[in-house]
Amino acid sequence: MIQHETKFKNETCGNCNGDGCLRCGSLGYVLVAQPSKKCDNCGGEGCHRCAYTGWSRALKAK
Ligand SMILES: [Zn+2]
Ligand SMILES: [Zn+2]
Repeated sequence: MIQHETKFKNETCGNCNGDGCLRCGSLGYVLVAQPSKKCDNCGGEGCHRCAYTGWSRALKAK
C-alpha cells in the first residue's frame, strides 16, 4: 500500500467551534491534512498563521 498520499479529514473549525463562520465558509469544519495537528501558535483558538482555523495544516473547506 502506498502511504505517501496525504490524507485529509474534516475537523471542527477553531474559529467558530462548528457554528459556521467566514473562515470555514459557514460549514463549521475545515479540511485538515492528517495526522491533524493543532496550530502551535494559538493552540487551536485561531490566529493569522493557521488562517483562523486552529489547525496547523488546514485547507479551507469549500
Ligand atoms: Zn468556522
Ligand atoms: Zn493558529
